[in-house]
Amino acid sequence: MGRDGKGNVGFIGIGTMGREMLRNLLKAGHAVRAFDLNEAAVADAVKQGAAGAEHPADAARDADIVISMLPDTPHVEAAVYGEQGLLQAPPPGKLIVDMSTISPVAVRRIHADFKQAGVSFIDAPVSGGPLGAKNAALSIMAGGEADAFARAEPFFQAMGTTITHVGASGAGQTVKLCNQLICGINIQAICEALALGRASGVDLNLLRRVLLGGSAASWMLDKLGPAMIEGDVGAGFRIDLMLKDLRLVQEHAQALNVPLPGTALVTSQYVDARAHDEGTNGNQALFRVYDRMSNQITG
Ligand code: NAD
Repeated sequence: MGRDGKGNVGFIGIGTMGREMLRNLLKAGHAVRAFDLNEAAVADAVKQGAAGAEHPADAARDADIVISMLPDTPHVEAAVYGEQGLLQAPPPGKLIVDMSTISPVAVRRIHADFKQAGVSFIDAPVSGGPLGAKNAALSIMAGGEADAFARAEPFFQAMGTTITHVGASGAGQTVKLCNQLICGINIQAICEALALGRASGVDLNLLRRVLLGGSAASWMLDKLGPAMIEGDVGAGFRIDLMLKDLRLVQEHAQALNVPLPGTALVTSQYVDARAHDEGTNGNQALFRVYDRMSNQITG
């Protein structure tokens, strides 16, 4: 990294979140070399001012730090262990940060493999959604060695506002999974309240406003409530991604013998939503499970 605090970033995964995070890194004055399997996403990043890369090793070639923002564990493993992956050709800055939500067990394995190669690996998943990513207001929870976290921090500051080192490798993912189980169960609770309110003939906008002023207030009720009331299932954090996170929560809990009955129940409702072709809809589409149960819609 230069004396001016600006550095070279390799960025892998230019999707809903990555696109915005990359844009904020550029805005903060860092140089970015970006790779995605989707060529149109790379072309878009180039239009934003990044350089394009052909594969993960190419994105890393002159980087102080490589950041990845990929869908799930196998995608991160492909970027790390693939033929032109980061383990073959780590960045000169010897620092890699994965900001995707993936398995904490896989994270610890990847961390150990990089450690053997003399490279630091931080898990730093985020919360705040596409809007948080766009506004550089993400909450970033990081696991790994303190010195590596300190080196990554200036780059985190370009993307987030709440940046916390939560512990050793994998701890970032554990905290993120705790976040996700609360979000999932909270959305379910809101669906139930709206279903009951609607059946009772209460004005749902009024109901939401009152609840936001009391102890039932939540980020989900605030941000997703209007879409649920309007029946707008469009964009947002996809049902498929939440199902992936709930699967990671359960795998982690089972490995530690921690019973999570609330998570199990809401997971089955997300499975129901996906079975009714809601997988690519936003999380607020969970209310359609309740619509179906109360005969409000068919299909
Ligand atoms: P996305 O599917 O929109 O983007 C992922 C990108 O990765 C795509 O452009 C895809 O082409 C690319 N990709 C897939 N495999 C690749 C590979 N092997 N090499 C290079 N590129 C590859 O996903 P997203 O919504 O940006 O989410 C990314 C991660 O962030 C996920 O782990 C998700 O759970 C987490 N997350 C998402 C949100 C959200 O609201 N969308 C919020 C917080 C955390």
